Amino acid sequence: MPPAEQGAPLQPGPALTAPFHLRGDLDSSSYGYTRDGNPSWSVVEAALGALEEAESVLFSSGMAALCAVLEPALAAGDVLVAVRDGYPGVRTVAADRLASRGVEVRLVPTDTEAIVAACPGATLVWVETPSNPGLDVCDIAAVADAAHAAGSRLAVDNTLATPLGQRPLDHGADAVMYSATKALSGHSDLVLGAVTVRDPEWAQSLRRHRSQGGAIAGPFEAWLLQRSLPTLALRLARQSDNALALARMLRDRRGVSDVRHPGLEEHPCHALAARQMLHCGPLVCFTLDGAERAQSFLGALELVAEATSFGGVHSTAERRARWGTDDVAEGFIRFSAGCEDAEDLLADVARALDGG
Ligand code: PLP
Repeated sequence: MPPAEQGAPLQPGPALTAPFHLRGDLDSSSYGYTRDGNPSWSVVEAALGALEEAESVLFSSGMAALCAVLEPALAAGDVLVAVRDGYPGVRTVAADRLASRGVEVRLVPTDTEAIVAACPGATLVWVETPSNPGLDVCDIAAVADAAHAAGSRLAVDNTLATPLGQRPLDHGADAVMYSATKALSGHSDLVLGAVTVRDPEWAQSLRRHRSQGGAIAGPFEAWLLQRSLPTLALRLARQSDNALALARMLRDRRGVSDVRHPGLEEHPCHALAARQMLHCGPLVCFTLDGAERAQSFLGALELVAEATSFGGVHSTAERRARWGTDDVAEGFIRFSAGCEDAEDLLADVARALDGG
């Protein structure tokens, strides 16, 4: 928060302006035009940066943040190592915008050994852990060591865990990207993104990229994020507890298979997740027997909306295969646990599984 000023509002409101009063010569510390800087961005950038003892740069969406890391870093002849089982946006950008201009793209699963093995010769390594939607976890420190040994930088999509679940920069990552559309804002009412780095020159070039490309946050959306951040810890604690409680309930249900949540002891990444993460985030995934069964389950839920995205205070769920972008079974459900009462939520899911 900005310093307390006598008589000023307790919380700054949104700075809804394009130009600012700017008399005479430009002063580097003041605002001039909102495409270059806005006080509503500064408040959230300071808060996000403080969470990781780094500098944070706000963008108009997670995809704009992702492109701001990938595109300036990679030229013809460079090599991008990226996970193939994470958010599909990175694969589409790699195919449409990078491979097409001569960047070699190596797609690997979210598996520490496979990523490390792909690092030699890399220019940039991109991971997402836990991966969305498979919820697999990789060892950020081991991947950072392998990337650095290859002369590469490591970027981590930390959307799912948020800085309260893990701080990839502490494990050696060079850049962390967020879709603030998800748990950071948490109310399903905006689209924003951010990149957090500890290298001041990289932060400066991200800001320059943003000014030139124009992928800027509206001040009102930035202010909504400002309003949401103070409750992040409360929301996430509740959502993570609800997701794990659901996972535990689901693994004992007939007709439900492949329950995926890194907090479950039987998940192959459980030990690593327990070491690396403070909580596992709001997602739990599982498979029902085919598309029809999955759709009828979704239709029978009363507390849970059928919708994409995740991290909101209200639970949502979707049949992920409907997008055709992920390598998942037809009956694969991605469930984002909200802040509802756990007993109510579990009862609603159990009732919907029983046929409504
Ligand atoms: N990264 C992850 C893990 C996501 O789930 C998403 C969106 O679903 C993105 C990035 C892209 O973010 P946005 O939709 O804010 O552009």
